[in-house]
Amino acid sequence: MADFDLAIVGGGINGAGIARDAAGRGLRVLLVEQNDLASGTSSASTKLIHGGLRYLEQGWFRLVREALIEREVMLRMAPHLIRPMRFVLPAEPGLRPAWMLRLGLFVYDHLGGRKILPPTRTIALADDPLGTPLKRRYERGFEYSDCWADDARLVVVSALDAAERGATIRTRTRCIRAERGAEWRLVLDVRGRRDLATARVLVNATGPWLKLFAQNVLRDTTPLPARLDEGSHIVVRRLFDHDRGYIVQTRDGRFVFALPFEQDFTLIGTTDRSFAGDPSGIQPSADEIAYLCDVANQHFRATIGPADVVWSFAGVRALHDDGSRKAQDVTRDYLLALDERDGEAPLLTVYGGKITTYRRLAEQALDRLAHIVAGGPAWTRESHLPGGEFPYNGFETLVNRTRKSRPFLSEQHARRLVATYGTRVERVLGPARRLEDLGPCLGADLMGAEVRYLMEREWAQTEDDVLWRRTKLGLRFSLEERERLAKFMAATVGHGTGA
Ligand SMILES: Cc1cc2nc3c(=O)[nH]c(=O)nc-3n(C[C@H](O)[C@H](O)[C@H](O)COP(=O)(O)OP(=O)(O)OC[C@H]3O[C@@H](n4cnc5c(N)ncnc54)[C@H](O)[C@@H]3O)c2cc1C
Repeated sequence: MADFDLAIVGGGINGAGIARDAAGRGLRVLLVEQNDLASGTSSASTKLIHGGLRYLEQGWFRLVREALIEREVMLRMAPHLIRPMRFVLPAEPGLRPAWMLRLGLFVYDHLGGRKILPPTRTIALADDPLGTPLKRRYERGFEYSDCWADDARLVVVSALDAAERGATIRTRTRCIRAERGAEWRLVLDVRGRRDLATARVLVNATGPWLKLFAQNVLRDTTPLPARLDEGSHIVVRRLFDHDRGYIVQTRDGRFVFALPFEQDFTLIGTTDRSFAGDPSGIQPSADEIAYLCDVANQHFRATIGPADVVWSFAGVRALHDDGSRKAQDVTRDYLLALDERDGEAPLLTVYGGKITTYRRLAEQALDRLAHIVAGGPAWTRESHLPGGEFPYNGFETLVNRTRKSRPFLSEQHARRLVATYGTRVERVLGPARRLEDLGPCLGADLMGAEVRYLMEREWAQTEDDVLWRRTKLGLRFSLEERERLAKFMAATVGHGTGA
Protein backbone atom coordinates (compact mmCIF):
# COMPACT_ATOMS: atom_id res chain seq x y z
CA MET A 1 0.00 0.00 0.00
CA ALA A 2 1.25 3.51 -0.82
CA ASP A 3 2.43 5.62 2.14
CA PHE A 4 -0.04 8.40 1.25
CA ASP A 5 -3.30 8.85 -0.68
CA LEU A 6 -2.18 12.26 -1.85
CA ALA A 7 1.29 13.74 -2.23
CA ILE A 8 1.25 17.47 -2.86
CA VAL A 9 4.36 19.26 -4.11
CA GLY A 10 4.37 22.99 -3.30
CA GLY A 11 3.69 24.69 0.03
CA GLY A 12 2.05 27.84 -1.32
CA ILE A 13 -1.59 28.74 -0.79
CA ASN A 14 -2.85 26.14 -3.26
CA GLY A 15 -0.78 23.24 -1.94
CA ALA A 16 -1.58 24.11 1.69
CA GLY A 17 -5.28 24.57 0.86
CA ILE A 18 -5.50 21.19 -0.87
CA ALA A 19 -3.61 19.50 1.99
CA ARG A 20 -6.02 21.00 4.51
CA ASP A 21 -9.15 20.05 2.62
CA ALA A 22 -7.87 16.52 1.94
CA ALA A 23 -6.77 15.89 5.53
CA GLY A 24 -10.17 17.10 6.75
CA ARG A 25 -11.80 14.52 4.47
CA GLY A 26 -9.78 11.79 6.17
CA LEU A 27 -7.17 11.23 3.45
CA ARG A 28 -3.53 10.42 4.17
CA VAL A 29 -1.69 13.51 2.95
CA LEU A 30 1.93 14.48 2.37
CA LEU A 31 2.87 18.08 1.54
CA VAL A 32 6.45 18.86 0.55
CA GLU A 33 7.85 22.35 0.18
CA GLN A 34 11.41 22.93 -1.05
CA ASN A 35 11.90 26.06 1.03
CA ASP A 36 9.66 27.65 3.66
CA LEU A 37 5.86 27.61 3.46
CA ALA A 38 4.68 30.61 1.41
CA SER A 39 8.21 31.38 0.26
CA GLY A 40 6.99 31.58 -3.38
CA THR A 41 4.23 33.71 -4.85
CA SER A 42 1.92 33.29 -1.88
CA SER A 43 3.83 35.80 0.25
CA ALA A 44 4.34 38.20 -2.68
CA SER A 45 0.76 38.98 -3.64
CA THR A 46 -0.99 42.35 -3.30
CA LYS A 47 -2.77 40.70 -0.33
CA LEU A 48 -6.29 41.46 -1.48
CA ILE A 49 -9.26 39.23 -0.98
CA HIS A 50 -11.16 40.64 -3.89
CA GLY A 51 -13.32 39.94 -6.88
CA GLY A 52 -10.90 41.83 -9.11
CA LEU A 53 -12.70 44.96 -10.29
CA ARG A 54 -10.70 45.23 -13.49
CA TYR A 55 -11.55 41.66 -14.50
CA LEU A 56 -15.08 42.90 -15.21
CA GLU A 57 -13.66 44.78 -18.20
CA GLN A 58 -12.43 41.48 -19.57
CA GLY A 59 -15.89 40.00 -19.10
CA TRP A 60 -14.68 37.41 -16.57
CA PHE A 61 -17.98 37.47 -14.67
CA ARG A 62 -17.86 33.87 -13.42
CA LEU A 63 -14.40 34.38 -11.92
CA VAL A 64 -15.36 37.72 -10.34
CA ARG A 65 -18.60 36.30 -8.94
CA GLU A 66 -16.89 33.29 -7.38
CA ALA A 67 -14.20 35.49 -5.85
CA LEU A 68 -16.75 38.01 -4.53
CA ILE A 69 -18.68 35.22 -2.84
CA GLU A 70 -15.45 33.86 -1.36
CA ARG A 71 -14.58 37.24 0.20
CA GLU A 72 -17.13 36.86 2.96
CA VAL A 73 -16.57 33.10 3.36
CA MET A 74 -12.88 33.85 3.88
CA LEU A 75 -13.58 36.75 6.24
CA ARG A 76 -15.56 34.42 8.50
CA MET A 77 -12.96 31.66 8.16
CA ALA A 78 -10.00 33.76 9.33
CA PRO A 79 -11.13 37.07 10.85
CA HIS A 80 -7.71 37.57 12.46
CA LEU A 81 -5.87 37.41 9.11
CA ILE A 82 -8.49 39.01 6.88
CA ARG A 83 -10.19 42.33 7.39
CA PRO A 84 -12.60 44.45 5.38
CA MET A 85 -10.96 47.35 3.61
CA ARG A 86 -12.46 50.32 1.78
CA PHE A 87 -10.79 51.39 -1.47
CA VAL A 88 -10.78 54.84 -3.01
CA LEU A 89 -10.90 54.86 -6.81
CA PRO A 90 -10.46 58.40 -8.19
CA ALA A 91 -11.97 59.17 -11.58
CA GLU A 92 -8.99 60.21 -13.69
CA PRO A 93 -9.54 62.95 -16.27
CA GLY A 94 -8.93 61.48 -19.75
CA LEU A 95 -9.11 57.82 -18.63
CA ARG A 96 -12.10 55.56 -17.87
CA PRO A 97 -15.02 57.99 -17.33
CA ALA A 98 -16.75 58.23 -13.94
CA TRP A 99 -20.00 56.69 -15.26
CA MET A 100 -18.07 53.62 -16.41
CA LEU A 101 -16.40 53.21 -13.02
CA ARG A 102 -19.76 53.64 -11.29
CA LEU A 103 -21.35 51.03 -13.53
CA GLY A 104 -18.52 48.58 -12.87
CA LEU A 105 -18.84 49.15 -9.14
CA PHE A 106 -22.61 48.68 -9.30
CA VAL A 107 -22.06 45.26 -10.88
CA TYR A 108 -19.27 44.55 -8.38
CA ASP A 109 -21.60 45.37 -5.47
CA HIS A 110 -24.38 43.12 -6.71
CA LEU A 111 -22.67 40.17 -8.37
CA GLY A 112 -21.43 38.27 -5.35
CA GLY A 113 -24.15 38.10 -2.69
CA ARG A 114 -22.52 40.76 -0.48
CA LYS A 115 -23.95 40.65 3.07
CA ILE A 116 -21.28 41.96 5.42
CA LEU A 117 -19.32 44.51 3.40
CA PRO A 118 -20.79 47.99 2.87
CA PRO A 119 -21.67 49.14 -0.67
CA THR A 120 -19.99 51.71 -2.90
CA ARG A 121 -20.40 55.44 -2.29
CA THR A 122 -19.47 58.39 -4.44
CA ILE A 123 -17.01 60.89 -2.96
CA ALA A 124 -16.32 64.51 -3.80
CA LEU A 125 -12.56 64.27 -3.56
CA ALA A 126 -12.05 68.01 -3.59
CA ASP A 127 -13.91 68.29 -0.23
CA ASP A 128 -13.50 64.87 1.35
CA PRO A 129 -10.49 64.17 3.65
CA LEU A 130 -9.86 61.06 1.52
CA GLY A 131 -8.90 63.44 -1.30
CA THR A 132 -6.27 65.20 0.83
CA PRO A 133 -3.31 62.86 0.10
CA LEU A 134 -4.06 63.02 -3.65
CA LYS A 135 -3.06 65.61 -6.24
CA ARG A 136 -5.55 68.42 -6.59
CA ARG A 137 -6.85 67.52 -10.08
CA TYR A 138 -9.32 64.91 -8.78
CA GLU A 139 -12.91 65.98 -8.32
CA ARG A 140 -14.82 62.76 -8.09
CA GLY A 141 -14.11 59.25 -6.94
CA PHE A 142 -15.69 56.16 -5.45
CA GLU A 143 -15.18 54.24 -2.27
CA TYR A 144 -15.91 50.51 -2.47
CA SER A 145 -15.35 47.39 -0.40
CA ASP A 146 -12.97 44.46 -0.63
CA CYS A 147 -10.82 42.71 1.99
CA TRP A 148 -7.16 42.64 2.89
CA ALA A 149 -5.32 39.49 3.99
CA ASP A 150 -2.04 38.37 5.48
CA ASP A 151 -1.28 36.04 2.57
CA ALA A 152 1.75 34.24 4.05
CA ARG A 153 0.00 33.53 7.34
CA LEU A 154 -3.02 32.16 5.50
CA VAL A 155 -0.68 29.57 4.00
CA VAL A 156 0.93 28.74 7.33
CA VAL A 157 -2.34 28.33 9.25
CA SER A 158 -3.82 26.26 6.41
CA ALA A 159 -0.81 23.94 6.68
CA LEU A 160 -1.19 23.98 10.46
CA ASP A 161 -4.83 22.95 10.19
CA ALA A 162 -3.85 20.22 7.72
CA ALA A 163 -1.21 18.93 10.17
CA GLU A 164 -3.66 18.99 13.07
CA ARG A 165 -6.00 16.89 10.92
CA GLY A 166 -3.27 14.33 10.32
CA ALA A 167 -1.33 15.58 7.25
CA THR A 168 2.45 15.28 7.12
CA ILE A 169 3.98 18.67 6.28
CA ARG A 170 7.64 18.68 5.31
CA THR A 171 9.34 22.00 4.64
CA ARG A 172 12.87 22.37 3.24
CA THR A 173 12.09 19.17 1.34
CA ARG A 174 12.45 19.29 -2.40
CA CYS A 175 10.87 16.73 -4.68
CA ILE A 176 13.64 15.96 -7.18
CA ARG A 177 12.16 12.97 -8.98
CA ALA A 178 8.66 11.51 -9.34
CA GLU A 179 8.38 8.08 -10.94
CA ARG A 180 5.00 7.08 -12.20
CA GLY A 181 3.82 3.48 -11.89
CA ALA A 182 0.71 2.00 -10.28
CA GLU A 183 1.60 4.49 -7.56
CA TRP A 184 3.92 7.49 -7.44
CA ARG A 185 7.41 7.02 -6.07
CA LEU A 186 8.88 10.34 -4.97
CA VAL A 187 12.54 11.03 -4.38
CA LEU A 188 12.95 13.84 -1.86
CA ASP A 189 15.98 15.94 -1.07
CA VAL A 190 15.95 17.02 2.56
CA ARG A 191 18.88 19.43 2.74
CA GLY A 192 21.19 17.03 0.95
CA ARG A 193 19.76 13.83 2.50
CA ARG A 194 17.68 11.52 0.26
CA ASP A 195 14.28 10.23 1.28
CA LEU A 196 11.50 8.30 -0.47
CA ALA A 197 7.72 8.40 -0.30
CA THR A 198 4.95 6.72 -2.25
CA ALA A 199 1.48 8.04 -3.01
CA ARG A 200 -1.64 7.09 -4.96
CA VAL A 201 -2.10 10.56 -6.47
CA LEU A 202 0.40 13.36 -7.11
CA VAL A 203 -0.59 17.04 -7.10
CA ASN A 204 1.67 19.51 -8.89
CA ALA A 205 0.97 22.69 -6.90
CA THR A 206 4.33 24.29 -7.65
CA GLY A 207 2.80 27.54 -8.97
CA PRO A 208 5.35 29.33 -11.16
CA TRP A 209 7.66 26.29 -11.01
CA LEU A 210 4.95 24.22 -12.70
CA LYS A 211 6.72 23.81 -16.03
CA LEU A 212 10.15 23.27 -14.48
CA PHE A 213 8.65 20.61 -12.23
CA ALA A 214 7.03 18.87 -15.21
CA GLN A 215 10.27 18.95 -17.23
CA ASN A 216 12.87 18.20 -14.57
CA VAL A 217 11.04 16.12 -11.98
CA LEU A 218 8.28 14.38 -13.92
CA ARG A 219 10.53 14.25 -17.01
CA ASP A 220 7.50 15.02 -19.11
CA THR A 221 8.48 16.47 -22.47
CA THR A 222 4.96 17.62 -23.44
CA PRO A 223 4.94 21.44 -23.15
CA LEU A 224 2.41 22.64 -20.54
CA PRO A 225 0.06 25.47 -21.54
CA ALA A 226 1.27 27.80 -18.80
CA ARG A 227 2.43 31.36 -18.98
CA LEU A 228 4.17 33.37 -16.28
CA ASP A 229 3.07 36.81 -15.17
CA GLU A 230 5.11 38.97 -12.80
CA GLY A 231 4.21 41.77 -10.42
CA SER A 232 6.20 43.99 -8.09
CA HIS A 233 5.54 45.81 -4.85
CA ILE A 234 7.37 48.46 -2.88
CA VAL A 235 6.91 49.54 0.74
CA VAL A 236 7.55 53.16 1.75
CA ARG A 237 6.82 55.26 4.86
CA ARG A 238 3.13 55.97 4.85
CA LEU A 239 1.71 58.37 2.27
CA PHE A 240 -1.57 58.84 4.22
CA ASP A 241 -2.72 58.19 7.77
CA HIS A 242 -6.11 56.51 7.45
CA ASP A 243 -7.13 52.90 6.90
CA ARG A 244 -8.43 53.10 3.29
CA GLY A 245 -6.51 51.89 0.28
CA TYR A 246 -6.22 53.68 -3.07
CA ILE A 247 -6.49 52.15 -6.51
CA VAL A 248 -5.33 54.44 -9.30
CA GLN A 249 -5.44 54.08 -13.06
CA THR A 250 -2.31 54.52 -15.13
CA ARG A 251 -1.91 55.79 -18.68
CA ASP A 252 -0.68 52.34 -19.80
CA GLY A 253 -4.00 50.74 -18.79
CA ARG A 254 -2.87 49.19 -15.50
CA PHE A 255 -4.20 49.72 -12.01
CA VAL A 256 -1.79 50.43 -9.17
CA PHE A 257 -2.70 49.87 -5.53
CA ALA A 258 -1.47 51.97 -2.60
CA LEU A 259 -2.49 50.27 0.62
CA PRO A 260 -2.02 51.02 4.31
CA PHE A 261 0.53 48.49 5.53
CA GLU A 262 1.69 47.54 9.02
CA GLN A 263 0.50 50.85 10.56
CA ASP A 264 3.42 53.04 9.51
CA PHE A 265 3.85 52.13 5.85
CA THR A 266 2.22 52.17 2.42
CA LEU A 267 2.41 49.18 0.08
CA ILE A 268 2.41 50.12 -3.61
CA GLY A 269 2.13 47.48 -6.28
CA THR A 270 0.87 46.26 -9.56
CA THR A 271 0.90 43.11 -11.68
CA ASP A 272 0.83 42.08 -15.33
CA ARG A 273 4.26 41.82 -16.84
CA SER A 274 5.22 38.73 -18.77
CA PHE A 275 8.02 36.73 -17.17
CA ALA A 276 10.30 33.96 -18.40
CA GLY A 277 12.83 31.81 -16.55
CA ASP A 278 13.26 30.48 -13.02
CA PRO A 279 11.17 32.39 -10.48
CA SER A 280 13.50 31.52 -7.56
CA GLY A 281 14.81 34.59 -5.74
CA ILE A 282 13.02 37.05 -8.03
CA GLN A 283 13.26 40.71 -6.99
CA PRO A 284 11.69 43.84 -8.51
CA SER A 285 13.95 45.42 -11.13
CA ALA A 286 15.23 48.99 -10.72
CA ASP A 287 12.92 49.94 -13.63
CA GLU A 288 9.89 48.46 -11.92
CA ILE A 289 10.70 50.27 -8.66
CA ALA A 290 11.16 53.54 -10.54
CA TYR A 291 7.86 52.93 -12.36
CA LEU A 292 5.95 52.43 -9.09
CA CYS A 293 7.51 55.56 -7.53
CA ASP A 294 6.62 57.46 -10.66
CA VAL A 295 2.98 56.34 -10.59
CA ALA A 296 2.75 57.26 -6.88
CA ASN A 297 4.20 60.70 -7.64
CA GLN A 298 1.69 61.26 -10.43
CA HIS A 299 -1.25 60.63 -8.08
CA PHE A 300 -0.17 61.53 -4.54
CA ARG A 301 0.99 64.86 -3.18
CA ALA A 302 3.94 63.30 -1.35
CA THR A 303 6.99 62.67 -3.51
CA ILE A 304 8.90 59.40 -3.27
CA GLY A 305 11.93 57.93 -5.01
CA PRO A 306 13.77 54.59 -4.96
CA ALA A 307 15.78 55.76 -1.91
CA ASP A 308 12.53 55.85 0.11
CA VAL A 309 11.79 52.20 -0.51
CA VAL A 310 12.23 50.29 2.76
CA TRP A 311 11.24 46.88 1.37
CA SER A 312 10.27 45.48 -2.00
CA PHE A 313 9.20 42.13 -3.35
CA ALA A 314 8.15 40.54 -6.61
CA GLY A 315 6.02 37.51 -7.37
CA VAL A 316 5.28 35.38 -10.40
CA ARG A 317 2.13 33.44 -11.08
CA ALA A 318 1.53 30.66 -13.56
CA LEU A 319 -1.59 31.26 -15.59
CA HIS A 320 -3.28 28.83 -17.89
CA ASP A 321 -2.25 29.97 -21.37
CA ASP A 322 -5.40 30.64 -23.35
CA GLY A 323 -3.53 32.15 -26.29
CA SER A 324 -3.98 35.85 -25.31
CA ARG A 325 -1.22 38.14 -26.51
CA LYS A 326 -1.02 40.56 -23.59
CA ALA A 327 -0.28 39.44 -19.99
CA GLN A 328 -3.29 41.35 -18.67
CA ASP A 329 -5.64 39.53 -21.06
CA VAL A 330 -4.69 36.01 -19.92
CA THR A 331 -7.45 34.51 -17.80
CA ARG A 332 -6.96 34.69 -14.02
CA ASP A 333 -9.26 31.71 -13.62
CA TYR A 334 -7.69 28.58 -12.22
CA LEU A 335 -7.68 25.29 -14.01
CA LEU A 336 -7.30 21.80 -12.57
CA ALA A 337 -5.92 19.36 -15.12
CA LEU A 338 -6.35 15.71 -14.15
CA ASP A 339 -4.16 13.30 -16.08
CA GLU A 340 -5.46 9.73 -15.69
CA ARG A 341 -3.86 6.86 -17.57
CA ASP A 342 -4.60 3.13 -17.58
CA GLY A 343 -2.60 1.30 -14.93
CA GLU A 344 -0.76 4.48 -13.88
CA ALA A 345 -1.25 6.69 -10.85
CA PRO A 346 -3.08 9.99 -11.59
CA LEU A 347 -1.51 13.45 -11.70
CA LEU A 348 -3.39 16.65 -10.88
CA THR A 349 -1.82 19.90 -12.09
CA VAL A 350 -2.96 23.25 -10.64
CA TYR A 351 -2.82 26.26 -12.99
CA GLY A 352 -3.35 29.78 -11.68
CA GLY A 353 -5.57 30.52 -8.72
CA LYS A 354 -5.82 33.45 -6.36
CA ILE A 355 -5.34 33.77 -2.64
CA THR A 356 -9.03 34.75 -2.64
CA THR A 357 -10.27 31.54 -4.21
CA TYR A 358 -7.83 29.01 -2.74
CA ARG A 359 -10.47 27.37 -0.54
CA ARG A 360 -12.77 26.81 -3.55
CA LEU A 361 -9.87 25.60 -5.66
CA ALA A 362 -8.98 23.04 -2.98
CA GLU A 363 -12.61 21.95 -2.66
CA GLN A 364 -12.86 21.44 -6.40
CA ALA A 365 -9.54 19.60 -6.52
CA LEU A 366 -10.81 17.09 -3.94
CA ASP A 367 -14.13 16.76 -5.75
CA ARG A 368 -12.23 16.00 -8.97
CA LEU A 369 -10.27 13.29 -7.17
CA ALA A 370 -13.24 11.80 -5.31
CA HIS A 371 -13.55 8.81 -7.68
CA ILE A 372 -9.90 7.93 -7.08
CA VAL A 373 -9.32 8.70 -3.39
CA ALA A 374 -12.73 8.81 -1.77
CA GLY A 375 -12.82 10.84 1.41
CA GLY A 376 -15.55 12.67 3.28
CA PRO A 377 -17.71 15.43 1.78
CA ALA A 378 -16.70 19.07 1.29
CA TRP A 379 -16.37 20.70 4.72
CA THR A 380 -14.38 23.94 4.57
CA ARG A 381 -17.12 26.46 3.71
CA GLU A 382 -18.29 26.91 7.31
CA SER A 383 -14.90 26.18 8.87
CA HIS A 384 -12.44 28.35 10.78
CA LEU A 385 -8.72 28.38 10.27
CA PRO A 386 -6.63 27.94 13.44
CA GLY A 387 -7.00 31.10 15.54
CA GLY A 388 -10.03 32.26 13.56
CA GLU A 389 -12.66 30.84 15.90
CA PHE A 390 -14.33 34.17 16.65
CA PRO A 391 -16.94 36.33 14.88
CA TYR A 392 -15.80 38.31 11.82
CA ASN A 393 -16.46 41.56 13.72
CA GLY A 394 -15.01 40.34 17.02
CA PHE A 395 -11.42 41.55 16.62
CA GLU A 396 -11.69 44.42 19.12
CA THR A 397 -13.39 42.16 21.69
CA LEU A 398 -10.56 39.65 21.39
CA VAL A 399 -7.95 42.40 21.78
CA ASN A 400 -9.74 43.67 24.90
CA ARG A 401 -10.05 40.16 26.33
CA THR A 402 -6.35 39.55 25.71
CA ARG A 403 -5.39 42.83 27.37
CA LYS A 404 -7.57 42.04 30.35
CA SER A 405 -6.01 38.62 30.88
CA ARG A 406 -2.49 39.94 30.11
CA PRO A 407 -2.41 43.55 31.36
CA PHE A 408 1.36 43.65 30.84
CA LEU A 409 0.88 43.82 27.04
CA SER A 410 0.79 47.27 25.45
CA GLU A 411 -2.24 47.93 23.26
CA GLN A 412 -0.09 47.79 20.12
CA HIS A 413 1.56 44.53 21.16
CA ALA A 414 -1.82 42.92 21.93
CA ARG A 415 -3.18 44.09 18.57
CA ARG A 416 -0.28 42.65 16.66
CA LEU A 417 -0.50 39.33 18.47
CA VAL A 418 -4.27 39.02 17.92
CA ALA A 419 -3.94 40.02 14.27
CA THR A 420 -1.28 37.32 13.87
CA TYR A 421 -2.55 34.45 16.01
CA GLY A 422 -6.24 35.18 16.66
CA THR A 423 -7.54 33.03 19.52
CA ARG A 424 -4.24 31.14 19.55
CA VAL A 425 -2.64 34.17 21.17
CA GLU A 426 -3.18 32.28 24.44
CA ARG A 427 -0.95 29.43 23.24
CA VAL A 428 1.75 31.90 22.21
CA LEU A 429 1.68 33.62 25.59
CA GLY A 430 1.40 30.40 27.61
CA PRO A 431 1.31 30.88 31.38
CA ALA A 432 3.10 34.28 31.24
CA ARG A 433 1.95 36.75 33.92
CA ARG A 434 4.63 39.40 33.30
CA LEU A 435 6.39 40.57 30.14
CA GLU A 436 9.65 39.07 31.43
CA ASP A 437 7.97 35.64 31.51
CA LEU A 438 7.94 35.78 27.69
CA GLY A 439 11.73 35.53 27.53
CA PRO A 440 14.15 38.03 25.99
CA CYS A 441 12.99 40.85 23.73
CA LEU A 442 14.69 40.19 20.40
CA GLY A 443 13.70 43.41 18.65
CA ALA A 444 10.51 45.51 18.21
CA ASP A 445 7.97 43.61 20.37
CA LEU A 446 9.15 40.13 19.41
CA MET A 447 9.70 38.09 22.57
CA GLY A 448 11.44 34.74 22.91
CA ALA A 449 8.18 32.88 23.66
CA GLU A 450 6.71 33.92 20.31
CA VAL A 451 9.78 32.75 18.40
CA ARG A 452 9.73 29.44 20.28
CA TYR A 453 6.05 29.01 19.39
CA LEU A 454 6.79 29.71 15.71
CA MET A 455 9.62 27.19 15.69
CA GLU A 456 7.69 24.51 17.57
CA ARG A 457 4.26 24.91 15.98
CA GLU A 458 4.66 26.75 12.67
CA TRP A 459 7.78 25.31 11.01
CA ALA A 460 9.85 28.51 11.35
CA GLN A 461 13.54 27.73 10.92
CA THR A 462 15.27 30.94 9.81
CA GLU A 463 15.06 34.63 10.69
CA ASP A 464 13.31 35.33 7.37
CA ASP A 465 10.65 32.74 8.19
CA VAL A 466 9.92 34.71 11.39
CA LEU A 467 10.48 38.28 10.19
CA TRP A 468 8.89 38.19 6.74
CA ARG A 469 6.43 35.29 6.56
CA ARG A 470 5.13 34.56 10.11
CA THR A 471 5.23 38.30 10.95
CA LYS A 472 6.28 41.46 9.11
CA LEU A 473 8.63 42.55 11.88
CA GLY A 474 11.44 42.61 9.32
CA LEU A 475 10.26 46.17 8.67
CA ARG A 476 11.26 47.10 12.23
CA PHE A 477 14.37 45.04 12.83
CA SER A 478 17.93 46.38 12.75
CA LEU A 479 20.84 44.24 11.59
CA GLU A 480 21.99 43.69 15.18
CA GLU A 481 18.51 42.58 16.21
CA ARG A 482 18.43 40.17 13.33
CA GLU A 483 21.70 38.66 14.48
CA ARG A 484 20.35 38.38 18.02
CA LEU A 485 17.30 36.57 16.65
CA ALA A 486 19.50 34.20 14.65
CA LYS A 487 21.49 33.34 17.79
CA PHE A 488 18.32 32.81 19.79
CA MET A 489 16.91 30.51 17.10
CA ALA A 490 20.16 28.54 16.89
CA ALA A 491 20.10 28.05 20.66
CA THR A 492 16.42 27.05 20.59
CA VAL A 493 16.83 24.30 17.97
CA GLY A 494 16.81 20.98 19.75
CA HIS A 495 14.82 22.35 22.67
CA GLY A 496 11.61 22.40 20.61
CA THR A 497 9.26 19.50 19.93
CA GLY A 498 9.22 20.27 16.18
CA ALA A 499 5.94 21.01 14.43
C1 LIG B 1 2.22 40.05 -8.16
C2 LIG B 1 1.04 39.22 -7.80
C3 LIG B 1 0.02 39.78 -7.02
C4 LIG B 1 -1.08 39.01 -6.67
N1 LIG B 1 -2.05 39.56 -5.89
C5 LIG B 1 -3.11 38.81 -5.51
C6 LIG B 1 -4.11 39.37 -4.66
O1 LIG B 1 -4.03 40.53 -4.25
N2 LIG B 1 -5.15 38.58 -4.31
C7 LIG B 1 -5.27 37.29 -4.74
O2 LIG B 1 -6.27 36.66 -4.40
N3 LIG B 1 -4.32 36.73 -5.52
C8 LIG B 1 -3.25 37.45 -5.91
N4 LIG B 1 -2.28 36.91 -6.69
C9 LIG B 1 -2.37 35.49 -7.06
C10 LIG B 1 -1.80 34.60 -5.97
O3 LIG B 1 -0.81 35.23 -5.23
C11 LIG B 1 -1.21 33.34 -6.59
O4 LIG B 1 -2.05 32.82 -7.55
C12 LIG B 1 -0.96 32.28 -5.53
O5 LIG B 1 -0.16 32.78 -4.50
C13 LIG B 1 -0.30 31.08 -6.17
O6 LIG B 1 -0.08 30.13 -5.16
P1 LIG B 1 0.59 28.76 -5.49
O7 LIG B 1 0.45 27.91 -4.27
O8 LIG B 1 0.05 28.20 -6.76
O9 LIG B 1 2.12 29.09 -5.82
P2 LIG B 1 3.34 29.48 -4.80
O10 LIG B 1 2.91 30.28 -3.66
O11 LIG B 1 4.45 30.01 -5.63
O12 LIG B 1 3.75 28.05 -4.24
C14 LIG B 1 4.44 27.08 -5.00
C15 LIG B 1 5.48 26.45 -4.09
O13 LIG B 1 6.02 25.30 -4.71
C16 LIG B 1 7.33 25.15 -4.20
N5 LIG B 1 8.06 24.21 -5.09
C17 LIG B 1 8.37 24.39 -6.38
N6 LIG B 1 9.04 23.31 -6.87
C18 LIG B 1 9.15 22.43 -5.83
C19 LIG B 1 9.73 21.12 -5.69
N7 LIG B 1 10.36 20.52 -6.71
N8 LIG B 1 9.65 20.50 -4.48
C20 LIG B 1 9.04 21.11 -3.43
N9 LIG B 1 8.47 22.35 -3.52
C21 LIG B 1 8.52 22.99 -4.70
C22 LIG B 1 7.86 26.56 -4.21
O14 LIG B 1 8.97 26.71 -3.35
C23 LIG B 1 6.64 27.36 -3.78
O15 LIG B 1 6.65 27.68 -2.39
C24 LIG B 1 -1.16 37.66 -7.09
C25 LIG B 1 -0.15 37.11 -7.87
C26 LIG B 1 0.95 37.87 -8.23
C27 LIG B 1 2.03 37.27 -9.06
